Amino acid sequence: MTPLEYDRLNIWHPYASLRNPPPVRFAKSASGTRILLDSGKELIDSVSSWWCVAHGHNHPHIVEAIRRQSEKLSHVMFGGFTHAPAIELAERLASIAPEGLDKIFFADSGSIAVEVAVKMCIQYQHALGRPGRCKMLALKGGYHGDTACAMALSDPDGMHTLFAGMMPRHYFAAMPGGDVRAWNFREILERHKDEIAGVVCEPVFQAANAMNFYGAEYLREMRKACDEYGILLVFDEIAAGFHRTGPRWAHERAGIKPDIMTVGKALTGGHITLAATLASGAVADVISRGSPSAFMHGPTYMANPLACAAGIASLELFEREDYTAKAEAIGRIFREEGLPQVMGAVGVVKVPRLPARADIDRIIDSSGVWLRPFANFIYAMPPLVTPECEVRQIAAALKELAACPPDPSAPDDGGFHE
Ligand SMILES: *Cc1c(COP(=O)(O)O)cnc(C)c1O
Repeated sequence: MTPLEYDRLNIWHPYASLRNPPPVRFAKSASGTRILLDSGKELIDSVSSWWCVAHGHNHPHIVEAIRRQSEKLSHVMFGGFTHAPAIELAERLASIAPEGLDKIFFADSGSIAVEVAVKMCIQYQHALGRPGRCKMLALKGGYHGDTACAMALSDPDGMHTLFAGMMPRHYFAAMPGGDVRAWNFREILERHKDEIAGVVCEPVFQAANAMNFYGAEYLREMRKACDEYGILLVFDEIAAGFHRTGPRWAHERAGIKPDIMTVGKALTGGHITLAATLASGAVADVISRGSPSAFMHGPTYMANPLACAAGIASLELFEREDYTAKAEAIGRIFREEGLPQVMGAVGVVKVPRLPARADIDRIIDSSGVWLRPFANFIYAMPPLVTPECEVRQIAAALKELAACPPDPSAPDDGGFHE
């Protein structure tokens, strides 16, 4: 049995069946914007390996930081111990976060960071003597991860409906954007203020479920409503943060701050999994005066030193150069190339239905651009360091794919995720 045959029979891939799974490509190494396959062929990674490879693959500065850290301390339990990489990363994160969000919880993945944010909201309300406030308000079209609590906050008509019977039921406001009169979050908050602990949303750019860009005014109104009802506001910047849409944080456009913010994906530049939940001093203070006074979460690999070292190195790279300008330069090229929806280093072509799998694979092979369309979106979110000629190549591949005939047998949600 070849390794690929073994993989096909025994290893689950994301959103894939083990019976007749879609083909996978064998990655041998990666460097910069490119993934090298065992066939010798190279592909430009137009999705930054699910939006995390901001500085390019195997960046020497990050690789070296992980190597050096591995020689000193690869892991130690965070219960009862601390270490220099955790402290330095926390300080750096706090220094670039919206002012006041300086209480840091390290989590192993984005989904967990969201779970932690929800638990903070509920523990906050509990500490204030409002134990009935144990639901969240989320937005239609949102995506917050694949673990149970994060799924329950993602679009209720999206890919997680199968698990509806197991999941807690939260409230959902209409998809943000469009006509102000369609915004219904205020009514829901008013009606259910005694049940709602917090609001969670992806600011300005709903990524994995809807590829929906919306205006900052929505966030300002949401901030006002949350303040009126004593409800915490959580911004999930896991996809949009670290300059993906231009500014460091997508919500900067709104000129307001959340109470809690989640970051992940590009935090380590795509080198090792790490995420964080940042809370304001006020939130941390209320939780810590409550009963229990401890915040009730603590994963085994919390603040893993290798991951923290990668995070520090990644943040150093973000500081060395102007990443807002980099994201905007990519967006400018996407616009010049005629992509219909562009914000920062995100380019999207919405189609009624995706082309056939065979067309997608053919265009990946002929263009040398790795594409991962989903639902009815053909999109690119390339590494922020992608040079102009490759950005043009990516845009050409998107347009070629979008011009293929739709696959009549594909479900109209495309059948696979991200
Ligand atoms: C990807 C994503 C998550 C989940 O992160 P994982 O690391 O995959 O668990 C959460 N929120 C948003 C906005 C995301 O894009």
